[in-house]
Formats: sequence, C-alpha cells, structure tokens
Amino acid sequence: MSLIMTGVGDETGSISNLICYGFVMKSSTGMVNYISVVEKIKINMKLFLITSVNLTLILVVLNINKGNNTHEFEENHSHELANYEMVMDTVPEFPYQKTEAEWKEILTPSQFRILRKKGTEFPYVNEYFDSKKDGIYVCAGCGQKLYDSRHKYKSGTGWPSFWKPIDDSLVVELEDKSLFMTRTEIVCSNCGGHLGHVFDDGPEPTNLRYCMNSAAMKLVNRDKLSEAEEN
Ligand SMILES: [Zn+2]
Repeated sequence: MSLIMTGVGDETGSISNLICYGFVMKSSTGMVNYISVVEKIKINMKLFLITSVNLTLILVVLNINKGNNTHEFEENHSHELANYEMVMDTVPEFPYQKTEAEWKEILTPSQFRILRKKGTEFPYVNEYFDSKKDGIYVCAGCGQKLYDSRHKYKSGTGWPSFWKPIDDSLVVELEDKSLFMTRTEIVCSNCGGHLGHVFDDGPEPTNLRYCMNSAAMKLVNRDKLSEAEEN
C-alpha cells in the first residue's frame, strides 16, 4: 500500500485548488480511494480543535505565571474551587472563638473559604508554594505560630510543604473522610482553622509532609515576631 499526495480532480495541483488536496490511498489491488472533501473538513475540524486546546493550555500557563494575580484567579474560578471543598462532621471546641459573621469581617473571601469552610486552593497559583523567604508562618485566622521556613521544602506538589510544625502542640490532627478517602486533616490548635493535610511521604527525619494552603497562613518576619512576643 502506498501513500501519495495529489489534487482531487486536478493532477497539476495548483495553489487555488489547495483546499481540494487530499491523500490518495492506493491499495495492493490497484484501487484508488480518495479521501472525500467531507473527510478533509473533518480533518480540518480536528486540527482546529487541537489548535484550540493548545491555545487554551497556553492561556492556562499564562494564568499560572501571573503569580501576583492569585486572588483574582481564585475569584474568577470560585465555582471550580468549590468542588475542592470538604465537609467535616464535627468541629471540636477551640480556645479562639468567633462567630461566622465575625470571621467574614476579618478574613478575605479565600481565607474564609479555606480556614472556616475547609476549602483547598489551586496548586501552583498560591502565594507561598515556591517561596524561599525566611520567616515564621502564622495562622491567618488567629496569628498563632505554625511553621518555620527552615522546615519548608520543595515537595513539587504546588502547595507549601513542611516536614514539621514549629511544635506539635500548635496543630491538631483530625480524621477527614471526605472525597471518598481517609486523610489526616491539620487545623490550627488555637482557632481550629483548616490549614491542610499531613501525609507520610515527606523527607527525613520525620518522613512527614505537612501540605498547607498558602491562604491559611501569613509569613512574618522572625525578628519582629520575637520582639512582639517580648513586649
Ligand atoms: Zn489559628
């Protein structure tokens, strides 16, 4: 079987007839089958769709690269982010209490959705996933110290990851059976705000990966935090 290119009804194949060009399949029996104009339109449609998909991917990559527009990205995709939300059956009592209305007043919409509604932000488009800045990560809800940048590592997941909290007493582990699986949820031990989850595929020495949401935390200057605590 051979494959040659020719023009349909025009063996010379002028440029004006380019749209009529197609492949001619010549079988061993000598039969020649032209790929019809309809088939070519289908091929063109496929090419168009592939090009559209490529353009969409490029736009997505451009959006991901717009690191400073994280909040705008989240607002525009709130309906998709809602799919990531989880619901817990019971919420233990925590020392730092506020009503839902009070939380809404002090938190941004994305902070509220993650901390108080157990939402999850998109990977790679959050504030701290690749941050190498030194400092202390505190709870965005109540300000309690949570993680030290010295315990942060590049997990490749697109979320800020730590191999330990500053102290185990600063976070509480809860069983999370949402999304048809069992995971260990991590919440702030002071306000109960949802921070993320912990997994056992982290680096030495703990082998733990505390996978956190950037919006649930704030990175603050280590020295300023120490000064504030002394005063
Ligand atoms: Zn907190």
